[in-house]
Amino acid sequence: MDHDNTAPSPVQIRAAVMASRDFAATLFDQLRRDGLDEPGVSRDPYGPGEQRAHATCTAAAEAMGLTIEGDAAANLYMTLPGGDPAAKRIVTGSHLDSVPHGGNFDGAAGVVAGLVAIQALRRLGLTPKRTITVMGIRAEESIWFQVSYIGSRAALGILPEGSLDVLRIDTGRTLAEHIADCGGDPDRVRSGSRHFDPASLHAFLELHIEQAPALVEAGRSTGIGTGIPGNFRYPDARIEGCNDHVGLPRRFRRDAAMAGADFAMALDQMWAEYDQRGIPMACTIGRFHTDSKQHGLTIVPGAFHFSLDVRAYDESVLAELDQRVDAIVADVEQRRGVTFHRGTKTRAAVGPVDLLIKSKLARDAAALGIETIELGSPASHDAAAFAALGVPMGLIFIRNENGSHNANEAMTIEDFLDGTAVLTSYLIEESRGD
Ligand SMILES: [Zn+2]
Repeated sequence: MDHDNTAPSPVQIRAAVMASRDFAATLFDQLRRDGLDEPGVSRDPYGPGEQRAHATCTAAAEAMGLTIEGDAAANLYMTLPGGDPAAKRIVTGSHLDSVPHGGNFDGAAGVVAGLVAIQALRRLGLTPKRTITVMGIRAEESIWFQVSYIGSRAALGILPEGSLDVLRIDTGRTLAEHIADCGGDPDRVRSGSRHFDPASLHAFLELHIEQAPALVEAGRSTGIGTGIPGNFRYPDARIEGCNDHVGLPRRFRRDAAMAGADFAMALDQMWAEYDQRGIPMACTIGRFHTDSKQHGLTIVPGAFHFSLDVRAYDESVLAELDQRVDAIVADVEQRRGVTFHRGTKTRAAVGPVDLLIKSKLARDAAALGIETIELGSPASHDAAAFAALGVPMGLIFIRNENGSHNANEAMTIEDFLDGTAVLTSYLIEESRGD
């Protein structure tokens, strides 16, 4: 801040954030109406749902007089220019897409929080030296294209080769076509063009609803993130056995469904073992089914399909899990006489939180009178893409009843304003630029 500005007190900061309560509530209501697809909201990435959310946030930011920009991947940048062009920029924000029939706050809360924080700064009469950009990120929810962090990685020029050719599962059209539909330039994305040089960024902060009930359980409104898990995934794997008569004795069978069951139970046992050792991880078989074109009451299943997501907070744990999965597959193949075709394998790196940012956020919250707990994120977040390139990254989680990726997620505006006050405090201190 300008040196003639005196630093606002925690009470003043909270009041300045509270004064945006109606703005935030109105913006959330509009976003809900924009995405309404009962039950819940569907902000389909690079489709009409996400487009409407971008238009709503753009209009709100224009009304605030912020500078609006896009990039080759049609991400949205809403910027309050800083007083010192040499000072590194702070970026805050989250994604504006949702899963089909998802909740209104997953993603959008982080974008609204950034706008509220800027309003609070202005209300306090502060002129930041650092430029502050609120980012509305495209296509974070990987259910649609089965690719992680599309918008954020494209903004940083690191979207993996081949991503632009994947098909959206519902439309059957490529990511490149969808990006072009929304005013982006897929060829520039393909060439690795980036909006941000990571070296020009001071920090990336993401506020997000919690996707587990830890804050509800702890009775706290706000959590300070400790890290984002990395993952490896098989979006479309299958097991090949042999279709046979229902009367075939067990020793002759090559039963793909039983092999799938063995595989799932072995993964669950592995997870229980890591739980016992106190090493956080998760594995999820989101799809698990026989082939509807071939299966039937009297046929031994010869084909079985599944998807797999394995996640952990430490690259070495992830590498170890990768080997364990290989060993489980080899064992099931040998015992059941089947073959696993795991198909494409995707990876996302672990997103470590910057320890200095984490401690500053905790200290800011304490000064504001907001009691917090530390939380490892169960879910993936765009912030991991920034952290992967060495941008110091911080996470603020907001209490949320009923989980996420469903229509019943619930975040109170009071809890949202608590977390946003912590974000605002951080921006005030860090945007001094000294
Ligand atoms: Zn999200």
